[in-house]
Amino acid sequence: MVEIKLKKGKEKAVLQRHPWVFSGALEKIKGTPENGDVVKVCSANNDFLAYGYYNDQSRVAVRLLEWDENQVIDEAWYGQKINKAIESRAHLLKNKDTNAYRLIFSEADFLPGLIVDKYADFLSVQILSTGIEKAKPIIIDVLVKALQPKGIFDRSDATARTHEGITAENGLLWGEAPAAFIAVKENGITYHINIAEGQKSGFYCDQRDNRLLLAEYADGKNVLDCFSYSGGFSLNAFKKGAKQVTSVDSSALAIETLKQNIELNKFDSKNHTAIQADVNKQLRAFKEEGKKFDIVILDPPKYAPSRSALDRAARAYKDLNRLGLLLLESGGLLATFSCSGAVDIETFKQIIAWAALDAGKEVQVIKQFSQPEDHPVRLSFPEGEYLKGLLVRVL
Ligand code: SAH
Repeated sequence: MVEIKLKKGKEKAVLQRHPWVFSGALEKIKGTPENGDVVKVCSANNDFLAYGYYNDQSRVAVRLLEWDENQVIDEAWYGQKINKAIESRAHLLKNKDTNAYRLIFSEADFLPGLIVDKYADFLSVQILSTGIEKAKPIIIDVLVKALQPKGIFDRSDATARTHEGITAENGLLWGEAPAAFIAVKENGITYHINIAEGQKSGFYCDQRDNRLLLAEYADGKNVLDCFSYSGGFSLNAFKKGAKQVTSVDSSALAIETLKQNIELNKFDSKNHTAIQADVNKQLRAFKEEGKKFDIVILDPPKYAPSRSALDRAARAYKDLNRLGLLLLESGGLLATFSCSGAVDIETFKQIIAWAALDAGKEVQVIKQFSQPEDHPVRLSFPEGEYLKGLLVRVL
């Protein structure tokens, strides 16, 4: 196995179990590893630190997997890590009202670059590192043995792959191809998912708990769900008695799926308006029309892909939230989210404070939202915490 020696002092983060070694931390590579090979990482004093996947194309030159020198990264090791991740979600898997979960969440489950979502009997897999790409046959084998899925679909078309120097993939990996739309359940609500073409891996199961929490405020209310995708927040609001829901998304597939979902759950489509539009433009149009809502939900895509994009992203979040706040009556609620890892909760609060000031509104935070337990955060890897939100009341 190729050995990589770190520069003096660079062992600190590894000893704290942070799973990323940046290329600038490498002192010497003893041998010529291929990208995706498992390498041994040692300190400047030649002490063993950890095993990890090597990649010379990525800023993260080694993605660490294992800190125990006696372990061998073989089939049994992958079996153990995958089964552990599944076991830790066993109580969720028993839930009769939900069958859409994240089973493996990359670094948080010690498998950097592997994301596996379970949608009823199908698995949607994202492979975002060369190391995982090399181990793909083993991983498929373990997943099949552990879960007996009908099919495993590859949704490795995320931009993260380009940072690793690997090409995008989208296709059937194993078993039966899923139908264009398969039905899943979440909190007792049925959703159609297009595994092959839907966004990300097909569904945003990271908002499961937040949809439920927010719906508690929806009874009798007029709700605006912005960036609705297939209607997670809209449908939960209807279930809890919302009087009227307006959903806005720019994607035609999202709007089509959302309309199917309204019907599947037998909600009255007369009380629902689906608008395919750019949210910023639509919010301005609503403002000009003098429209008001009781609850406004803002769940935009990631505005800050990295820390360097933070300033621009902060301005975009501020403008969006200012517009959202302007559509609320006093007593109205804004549920606002950010899925940018680079924006932490304190920064997000500052942005919302800034938006409220610009909108001329006094607001109270009444709840904080985060990501659900199937997207755990390893405390040694704070970067894994990406989803945050605030429920804000306009005074
Ligand atoms: N709230 C959703 C998830 C939102 S994901 C849920 O609970 O499932 C972000 C969504 O924003 C995607 O559906 C994407 O199509 C949409 N989107 C991205 N940019 C947009 C824009 N400028 N205007 C409207 N929708 C946009």
